[in-house]
Amino acid sequence: MSNSVLVINCGSSSIKYALVSERREDRIYGLAENLGASDARIKGITKGGQPIEIAIPNANHEQALETILSRLSEYQPQAIGHRVVHGGNLTKAELLTNEIVEKIREATPLAPLHNPAHLVGIEATMRLFPNLPQVAVFDTAFHQTMPDYAYRYALPKFLYTEHGVRRYGFHGTSHAYVSERGSTLAGMPNQGGWLTAHLGNGSSTCAIWNGKSVDTSMGLTPLEGLVMGTRSGDVDPSIHSFLAKNLGWDLYKIDRMLNNESGLYGLSNLSNDMRTLIEASERGNEDATLAIEVFCYRLAKSLAGLSCNLPQLDGLIFTGGIGENAAYIREKTLAYLPHFGFQLDQQRNNELKRGTEGRVDAGQGPQIWVIPTDEEGRIAQETRHVAEQQQHALATL
Ligand code: ADP
Repeated sequence: MSNSVLVINCGSSSIKYALVSERREDRIYGLAENLGASDARIKGITKGGQPIEIAIPNANHEQALETILSRLSEYQPQAIGHRVVHGGNLTKAELLTNEIVEKIREATPLAPLHNPAHLVGIEATMRLFPNLPQVAVFDTAFHQTMPDYAYRYALPKFLYTEHGVRRYGFHGTSHAYVSERGSTLAGMPNQGGWLTAHLGNGSSTCAIWNGKSVDTSMGLTPLEGLVMGTRSGDVDPSIHSFLAKNLGWDLYKIDRMLNNESGLYGLSNLSNDMRTLIEASERGNEDATLAIEVFCYRLAKSLAGLSCNLPQLDGLIFTGGIGENAAYIREKTLAYLPHFGFQLDQQRNNELKRGTEGRVDAGQGPQIWVIPTDEEGRIAQETRHVAEQQQHALATL
């Protein structure tokens, strides 16, 4: 397990962890959940693939991290990589110093639910392991290469210059990983024009030219863009004043509706889970059928829109729980892109199973790939890179 990196993703009451080494089969991972409550526990998978569950009643983030780290210390990770949702204008993974911690704090208004939870984890691990290099890897960083005409909103300029109101984009580690992997498998690593569709509970698309993000569907927050599990994606921004004036709703209620009660769940009035909707649609549920149709149409429209920023289109990559598993959704989405020349190989498309990567086009037109995402692997790779740069810098002092 030499060269391993511990990847940590802290939420408000949970911590996901993964010890990432050279071989994916050796990965140790798990989740501390219900932190602060009497039923707080750690559930995970050990090196031999055995499931474990440890009760840690009332443990806070620091206590949970101490337990996780003490169980993993025999593997001597070389660094810790923290997933951080919002990095403001930071363009790459950064070694965690007091200055970078402050920058993550400054970006809190842009990710009020996520960044404070990440900071709790970062501060705890910095106290517990002061000698281990710690790196922050940002969901937003990959999209910092977008040109200004893609990231600016048509709003008064001071909102951008003084308050940072612009499009940032998210899921950057996933779009970066699958585009690099897909283009490498296609024999043109980080070259050419690619569209990526990360479709999970949260979903986003990205256009990548020569390995760099040139546009993406999410914006100032992860609400913009596609139809998601419970998020509406794009709506007319006047919906706020419409609902306030006509239904008397306040901002909190409107935000909650758009983030938690909309999307596939809102449209179907049934579920945010694509599997449930596909099954219900097969049984004749019309709301489920419409939810799937809106999802695929809006996804196709987003991909077509983002393609405007690609000089040529070499391929499209599907990933995330839906993108990796739902052959039906891939097929339906491509049917809404008839003039792009995609030729789907139906049999290959239907045969791909969870966790398998593969090409599903018929050998003509832009390539179509399914690539299982690996955000932890990408975070570990970037963390290792930053930690090694730091060691090199210290050695040459
Ligand atoms: P998250 O964004 O929370 O990481 P995932 O990437 O795991 O979520 O994606 C969850 C979504 O993937 C759910 O909508 C789920 O229904 C969908 N999904 C998983 N397996 C399948 C499948 N076999 N067919 C269709 N959808 C699937």
